[in-house]
Amino acid sequence: MPGKGYTMLEQILYRLKTATFWRLIWFSVILSELLTAIIVLPMSILFRDGIAADYLITGSVAAFFVSLIVAFILVLLIKELRKDEKILNEQNQRIYELSIHDYLTEVFNCRYFYERLEEEIKRAVRNKTSVSLIMLDIDYFKQYNDIHGHQAGDRVLRDIALFLKQNVREHDVIARYGGEEFSLILPETGKRVAADLAERLRIAVSNQPFPFVETQPDGKLTISLGIAAFPDDAQSVNEFVKVADCALYKAKGNGKDKVVIAGE
Ligand code: GH3
Ligand code: MG
Ligand code: MG
Repeated sequence: MPGKGYTMLEQILYRLKTATFWRLIWFSVILSELLTAIIVLPMSILFRDGIAADYLITGSVAAFFVSLIVAFILVLLIKELRKDEKILNEQNQRIYELSIHDYLTEVFNCRYFYERLEEEIKRAVRNKTSVSLIMLDIDYFKQYNDIHGHQAGDRVLRDIALFLKQNVREHDVIARYGGEEFSLILPETGKRVAADLAERLRIAVSNQPFPFVETQPDGKLTISLGIAAFPDDAQSVNEFVKVADCALYKAKGNGKDKVVIAGE
């Protein structure tokens, strides 16, 4: 509801746009009464003695119906405006959803990931809690693409995203950080809990029957994961991502299909 700083007309228009159907009907009746008074009163004053009473009554009734029609048209216009506004709101929402999601996997994109990470860090500072971050990368994915083509690779990316959605808590944030890299923000979660989750994800992915896994090293598709926590390992967003990324890099160096926890 617009408050101070808005003109009376803007406030009335806002009330009309958000009013219920019955309120609009009331509004149209009151408006038609007002219009009738505006039409009939000056007439009766101007021609006080010149107009017969029955003319005045007929005129009033006619004026009331004309005003009712005018008011009703106004109400229809307002309803039409409201419909347009609803469509516009829906379109804006759709554009917003597109701008924060990754087209291929439908998880959040990298831009949203950074926004949320910053928010979660602030929340952790306020509530004196921890946030954990898992960076996850598919092992030997280039080889998979080279052998089976990009469409098969895309399907694996979608399957991994779906698998992550099914295996993390509702308020955890899953994002596609880059090509075959995903990141998970775990609000209000310490490093130990994050490490347990990462290990469960690692084992579960290596047991998933993705198409053509037999051509991957050891006959399975695997992931490597790096973990860091705020405030234990980092004091800023960039440092946080860098530390988790370093842990992931170590997991790759240690032979892949591994979980590495920053600082351990
Ligand atoms: P590592 O085990 O060290 O992670 O090696 P890797 O082959 O997984 O990683 P590398 O960085 O060498 O190659 C990543 C590959 O990911 C290259 C590219 O073919 C693939 N990739 C990146 N984005 C997409 C995508 O959107 N779709 C598909 N199908 N493949 C992608
Ligand atoms: Mg990889
Ligand atoms: Mg990579």
